[in-house]
Amino acid sequence: MSTNNIYEKKLDAQSLRAWLEYYRDIGVSSFYRNGQPDSVFDVLPALETPAPIAHPAPPQPSTFPITPSPQEPDIARASANQLISFTQLVPQPAPIPPAARPAALAAIRGELIPHSGAACTRCALAYAGRHKIVFGDGNPNAELMFVGEGPGADEDEQGIPFVGRAGQLLNNMISAMGLSREEVYIANIVKCRPPSNRVPEFSEATTCSPFLLRQIDVVRPKVIVALGATAATYLLGRKAALSLLRGTWHECRGAKLAVTYHPAFLLRDPRQKKETWKDLQMVMSELGLTPPNSAAPKT
Ligand code: URA
Repeated sequence: MSTNNIYEKKLDAQSLRAWLEYYRDIGVSSFYRNGQPDSVFDVLPALETPAPIAHPAPPQPSTFPITPSPQEPDIARASANQLISFTQLVPQPAPIPPAARPAALAAIRGELIPHSGAACTRCALAYAGRHKIVFGDGNPNAELMFVGEGPGADEDEQGIPFVGRAGQLLNNMISAMGLSREEVYIANIVKCRPPSNRVPEFSEATTCSPFLLRQIDVVRPKVIVALGATAATYLLGRKAALSLLRGTWHECRGAKLAVTYHPAFLLRDPRQKKETWKDLQMVMSELGLTPPNSAAPKT
Protein backbone atom coordinates (compact mmCIF):
# COMPACT_ATOMS: atom_id res chain seq x y z
CA MET A 1 0.00 0.00 0.00
CA SER A 2 1.36 3.39 -0.89
CA THR A 3 1.83 5.86 1.91
CA ASN A 4 2.89 9.44 2.29
CA ASN A 5 4.16 8.87 5.79
CA ILE A 6 7.90 9.41 5.75
CA TYR A 7 8.34 7.07 8.72
CA GLU A 8 6.59 4.21 6.94
CA LYS A 9 8.03 4.78 3.49
CA LYS A 10 11.44 3.27 2.86
CA LEU A 11 13.25 6.36 1.61
CA ASP A 12 16.87 6.65 0.81
CA ALA A 13 18.76 9.42 2.54
CA GLN A 14 18.58 11.75 -0.46
CA SER A 15 14.80 11.41 -0.84
CA LEU A 16 14.28 11.85 2.89
CA ARG A 17 16.41 14.99 2.80
CA ALA A 18 14.34 16.32 -0.12
CA TRP A 19 11.12 15.65 1.83
CA LEU A 20 12.39 17.34 4.95
CA GLU A 21 13.75 20.33 3.02
CA TYR A 22 10.43 20.69 1.24
CA TYR A 23 8.59 20.92 4.55
CA ARG A 24 11.23 23.18 6.05
CA ASP A 25 10.81 25.55 3.09
CA ILE A 26 7.12 25.91 3.76
CA GLY A 27 7.82 26.56 7.43
CA VAL A 28 7.05 23.11 8.89
CA SER A 29 9.96 21.98 11.00
CA SER A 30 8.59 19.46 13.53
CA PHE A 31 7.35 15.94 12.92
CA TYR A 32 5.66 13.62 15.41
CA ARG A 33 6.30 9.92 15.80
CA ASN A 34 4.49 8.11 18.60
CA GLY A 35 3.84 11.45 20.24
CA GLN A 36 7.50 12.44 20.34
CA PRO A 37 8.41 15.56 18.35
CA ASP A 38 11.35 15.29 15.95
CA SER A 39 12.73 18.46 14.44
CA VAL A 40 13.82 18.53 10.83
CA PHE A 41 17.06 19.89 12.12
CA ASP A 42 17.48 16.89 14.45
CA VAL A 43 16.75 14.38 11.73
CA LEU A 44 18.78 15.87 8.88
CA PRO A 45 22.24 15.57 10.38
CA ALA A 46 21.65 11.87 11.06
CA LEU A 47 21.33 11.20 7.34
CA GLU A 48 24.93 11.67 6.43
CA THR A 49 28.16 11.48 8.23
CA PRO A 50 29.64 14.84 7.34
CA ALA A 51 33.32 15.06 6.68
CA PRO A 52 35.04 16.11 9.86
CA ILE A 53 35.48 19.87 10.05
CA ALA A 54 39.07 20.81 10.52
CA HIS A 55 39.19 23.12 13.52
CA PRO A 56 42.27 25.22 13.82
CA ALA A 57 44.32 24.96 16.95
CA PRO A 58 43.07 27.30 19.72
CA PRO A 59 44.24 30.80 18.81
CA GLN A 60 46.90 32.58 20.81
CA PRO A 61 45.55 36.02 21.73
CA SER A 62 48.66 37.79 20.50
CA THR A 63 48.66 36.24 16.99
CA PHE A 64 44.96 35.66 16.24
CA PRO A 65 42.88 38.84 16.31
CA ILE A 66 39.22 38.16 17.06
CA THR A 67 37.14 41.11 15.98
CA PRO A 68 34.52 42.21 18.49
CA SER A 69 30.81 41.64 17.95
CA PRO A 70 28.92 44.82 16.96
CA GLN A 71 26.63 44.31 19.94
CA GLU A 72 27.21 42.74 23.30
CA PRO A 73 25.82 39.20 23.02
CA ASP A 74 22.71 38.81 25.13
CA ILE A 75 23.50 35.59 27.01
CA ALA A 76 19.97 35.10 28.35
CA ARG A 77 18.49 35.56 24.89
CA ALA A 78 20.99 33.25 23.26
CA SER A 79 20.52 30.46 25.78
CA ALA A 80 16.74 30.62 25.37
CA ASN A 81 17.01 30.82 21.53
CA GLN A 82 14.69 33.78 21.88
CA LEU A 83 13.73 35.42 18.60
CA ILE A 84 13.54 39.20 18.48
CA SER A 85 12.38 41.04 15.37
CA PHE A 86 14.87 43.28 13.58
CA THR A 87 12.60 46.22 14.39
CA GLN A 88 12.72 45.54 18.12
CA LEU A 89 16.44 44.80 18.31
CA VAL A 90 17.77 48.38 18.33
CA PRO A 91 16.26 51.78 17.50
CA GLN A 92 16.72 52.90 13.92
CA PRO A 93 19.36 55.61 13.46
CA ALA A 94 18.79 58.74 11.36
CA PRO A 95 18.93 58.01 7.62
CA ILE A 96 22.28 58.32 5.89
CA PRO A 97 22.21 60.67 2.86
CA PRO A 98 22.00 58.66 -0.38
CA ALA A 99 25.42 59.83 -1.60
CA ALA A 100 27.06 58.52 1.58
CA ARG A 101 25.48 55.07 1.45
CA PRO A 102 28.09 53.30 -0.71
CA ALA A 103 30.84 54.33 1.73
CA ALA A 104 28.68 53.36 4.73
CA LEU A 105 28.16 49.87 3.26
CA ALA A 106 31.85 49.58 2.45
CA ALA A 107 32.65 50.42 6.08
CA ILE A 108 30.36 47.64 7.36
CA ARG A 109 31.88 45.26 4.82
CA GLY A 110 35.33 46.25 6.07
CA GLU A 111 34.40 45.10 9.58
CA LEU A 112 33.80 41.61 8.20
CA ILE A 113 36.44 41.54 5.49
CA PRO A 114 39.23 43.92 6.52
CA HIS A 115 41.76 44.96 3.90
CA SER A 116 44.45 43.55 6.11
CA GLY A 117 44.06 41.07 8.93
CA ALA A 118 41.70 38.21 9.59
CA ALA A 119 38.24 37.96 8.08
CA CYS A 120 35.30 37.60 10.48
CA THR A 121 35.55 34.78 13.01
CA ARG A 122 32.52 35.70 15.09
CA CYS A 123 30.74 32.38 14.62
CA ALA A 124 31.44 28.74 13.86
CA LEU A 125 30.76 29.17 10.13
CA ALA A 126 34.18 30.81 9.83
CA TYR A 127 35.69 27.37 10.56
CA ALA A 128 33.22 25.23 8.62
CA GLY A 129 34.80 25.31 5.17
CA ARG A 130 33.97 28.90 4.24
CA HIS A 131 35.90 30.31 1.27
CA LYS A 132 34.40 33.78 0.85
CA ILE A 133 32.24 35.99 3.03
CA VAL A 134 29.18 36.99 0.99
CA PHE A 135 28.41 40.51 2.14
CA GLY A 136 25.63 41.68 -0.19
CA ASP A 137 25.17 43.01 -3.69
CA GLY A 138 23.33 45.73 -5.52
CA ASN A 139 22.20 49.31 -5.35
CA PRO A 140 23.03 51.06 -2.03
CA ASN A 141 19.93 53.24 -2.58
CA ALA A 142 17.59 50.43 -3.63
CA GLU A 143 13.87 50.73 -2.93
CA LEU A 144 13.61 46.95 -2.93
CA MET A 145 15.74 44.52 -0.94
CA PHE A 146 15.69 40.72 -1.12
CA VAL A 147 16.90 38.73 1.88
CA GLY A 148 17.78 35.05 1.56
CA GLU A 149 19.06 32.47 4.03
CA GLY A 150 22.77 32.08 3.44
CA PRO A 151 25.31 31.49 0.68
CA GLY A 152 25.48 28.18 -1.17
CA ALA A 153 28.51 26.67 -2.90
CA ASP A 154 28.51 29.07 -5.88
CA GLU A 155 28.12 32.12 -3.67
CA ASP A 156 30.85 30.85 -1.34
CA GLU A 157 33.15 30.56 -4.33
CA GLN A 158 32.35 33.95 -5.88
CA GLY A 159 31.57 36.05 -2.78
CA ILE A 160 28.31 37.31 -4.34
CA PRO A 161 24.79 36.37 -3.18
CA PHE A 162 22.40 34.40 -5.39
CA VAL A 163 24.67 33.51 -8.31
CA GLY A 164 23.85 29.78 -8.56
CA ARG A 165 20.69 28.14 -9.92
CA ALA A 166 18.48 29.75 -7.27
CA GLY A 167 20.13 33.07 -8.15
CA GLN A 168 19.28 32.61 -11.82
CA LEU A 169 15.65 32.15 -10.84
CA LEU A 170 15.80 35.19 -8.55
CA ASN A 171 17.21 37.20 -11.50
CA ASN A 172 14.24 36.05 -13.60
CA MET A 173 11.83 37.07 -10.83
CA ILE A 174 13.46 40.51 -10.66
CA SER A 175 13.28 40.98 -14.45
CA ALA A 176 9.64 39.90 -14.47
CA MET A 177 8.99 42.73 -12.01
CA GLY A 178 10.43 45.18 -14.55
CA LEU A 179 13.66 45.70 -12.60
CA SER A 180 17.28 44.74 -13.09
CA ARG A 181 19.45 43.06 -10.50
CA GLU A 182 21.57 46.24 -10.31
CA GLU A 183 18.52 48.22 -9.15
CA VAL A 184 17.78 46.08 -6.09
CA TYR A 185 19.87 45.09 -3.07
CA ILE A 186 20.38 41.43 -2.18
CA ALA A 187 21.71 40.00 1.08
CA ASN A 188 21.35 37.01 3.37
CA ILE A 189 20.72 36.27 7.05
CA VAL A 190 24.20 34.73 7.35
CA LYS A 191 27.17 35.78 5.26
CA CYS A 192 29.08 32.49 5.31
CA ARG A 193 28.03 29.19 3.79
CA PRO A 194 26.64 26.69 6.28
CA PRO A 195 28.20 23.25 5.65
CA SER A 196 26.13 21.08 3.28
CA ASN A 197 23.79 24.07 2.90
CA ARG A 198 22.16 23.28 6.23
CA VAL A 199 19.92 25.85 7.90
CA PRO A 200 21.99 28.35 9.91
CA GLU A 201 21.99 27.69 13.64
CA PHE A 202 20.29 30.23 15.91
CA SER A 203 23.67 31.35 17.26
CA GLU A 204 25.06 31.81 13.72
CA ALA A 205 22.02 33.75 12.52
CA THR A 206 21.85 36.02 15.55
CA THR A 207 25.60 36.65 15.53
CA CYS A 208 25.60 37.62 11.85
CA SER A 209 22.25 39.35 11.45
CA PRO A 210 23.25 42.65 13.15
CA PHE A 211 25.31 43.27 10.02
CA LEU A 212 22.26 42.73 7.83
CA LEU A 213 20.29 45.01 10.14
CA ARG A 214 22.89 47.73 9.61
CA GLN A 215 22.80 47.17 5.82
CA ILE A 216 19.03 47.65 5.91
CA ASP A 217 19.43 50.84 7.96
CA VAL A 218 21.92 52.21 5.40
CA VAL A 219 19.98 51.25 2.25
CA ARG A 220 16.54 52.16 3.70
CA PRO A 221 14.53 50.09 1.20
CA LYS A 222 10.81 50.83 0.95
CA VAL A 223 10.11 47.11 0.63
CA ILE A 224 11.95 44.03 1.84
CA VAL A 225 11.13 40.59 0.43
CA ALA A 226 12.00 37.74 2.79
CA LEU A 227 12.87 34.72 0.67
CA GLY A 228 11.85 31.63 2.60
CA ALA A 229 11.33 30.63 6.20
CA THR A 230 14.77 31.42 7.60
CA ALA A 231 14.76 35.03 6.36
CA ALA A 232 11.18 35.53 7.58
CA THR A 233 11.89 33.99 10.98
CA TYR A 234 14.85 36.22 11.82
CA LEU A 235 13.61 39.44 10.20
CA LEU A 236 10.20 39.19 11.87
CA GLY A 237 11.36 37.52 15.08
CA ARG A 238 8.76 34.81 14.87
CA LYS A 239 8.51 31.32 13.53
CA ALA A 240 5.38 30.61 11.53
CA ALA A 241 4.39 28.63 8.46
CA LEU A 242 5.05 30.55 5.25
CA SER A 243 1.39 30.06 4.35
CA LEU A 244 0.48 32.24 7.35
CA LEU A 245 3.07 34.91 6.60
CA ARG A 246 2.54 35.26 2.83
CA GLY A 247 -0.02 37.51 1.19
CA THR A 248 0.08 40.21 3.84
CA TRP A 249 2.36 43.09 4.75
CA HIS A 250 4.67 43.01 7.74
CA GLU A 251 7.02 45.70 9.02
CA CYS A 252 10.81 45.65 9.27
CA ARG A 253 12.90 48.67 10.25
CA GLY A 254 10.56 51.16 8.64
CA ALA A 255 10.17 49.10 5.46
CA LYS A 256 7.16 47.08 4.39
CA LEU A 257 8.07 43.41 4.39
CA ALA A 258 6.57 40.67 2.23
CA VAL A 259 7.30 36.98 2.62
CA THR A 260 7.54 34.59 -0.30
CA TYR A 261 9.03 31.24 -1.20
CA HIS A 262 12.78 30.84 -1.52
CA PRO A 263 13.90 30.38 -5.16
CA ALA A 264 15.66 27.12 -4.18
CA PHE A 265 12.30 25.81 -2.99
CA LEU A 266 10.72 26.87 -6.30
CA LEU A 267 13.34 24.81 -8.13
CA ARG A 268 12.14 21.81 -6.10
CA ASP A 269 8.44 22.65 -6.42
CA PRO A 270 7.82 24.79 -9.53
CA ARG A 271 4.04 24.64 -8.91
CA GLN A 272 4.54 27.34 -6.26
CA LYS A 273 5.84 29.86 -8.83
CA LYS A 274 2.28 31.05 -9.41
CA GLU A 275 1.90 31.82 -5.70
CA THR A 276 5.28 33.57 -5.68
CA TRP A 277 4.22 35.71 -8.61
CA LYS A 278 1.18 36.84 -6.57
CA ASP A 279 3.52 37.89 -3.76
CA LEU A 280 5.73 39.78 -6.20
CA GLN A 281 2.71 41.51 -7.73
CA MET A 282 1.76 42.76 -4.26
CA VAL A 283 5.28 44.21 -4.01
CA MET A 284 5.09 45.71 -7.50
CA SER A 285 1.84 47.49 -6.78
CA GLU A 286 3.37 48.95 -3.58
CA LEU A 287 6.37 50.23 -5.56
CA GLY A 288 4.29 51.40 -8.57
CA LEU A 289 6.01 48.93 -10.88
CA THR A 290 4.48 47.51 -14.02
CA PRO A 291 5.84 44.30 -15.53
CA PRO A 292 7.55 44.60 -18.94
CA ASN A 293 5.00 42.09 -20.23
CA SER A 294 2.19 40.21 -18.59
CA ALA A 295 4.19 36.99 -18.26
CA ALA A 296 5.12 35.47 -14.91
CA PRO A 297 8.82 34.74 -14.29
CA LYS A 298 10.54 32.39 -16.74
CA THR A 299 11.49 29.00 -15.40
N1 URA B 1 20.40 30.78 -1.19
C1 URA B 1 20.37 31.83 -0.34
O1 URA B 1 19.57 31.88 0.58
N2 URA B 1 21.25 32.81 -0.55
C2 URA B 1 22.12 32.81 -1.54
O2 URA B 1 22.89 33.76 -1.66
C3 URA B 1 22.13 31.72 -2.41
C4 URA B 1 21.26 30.70 -2.23
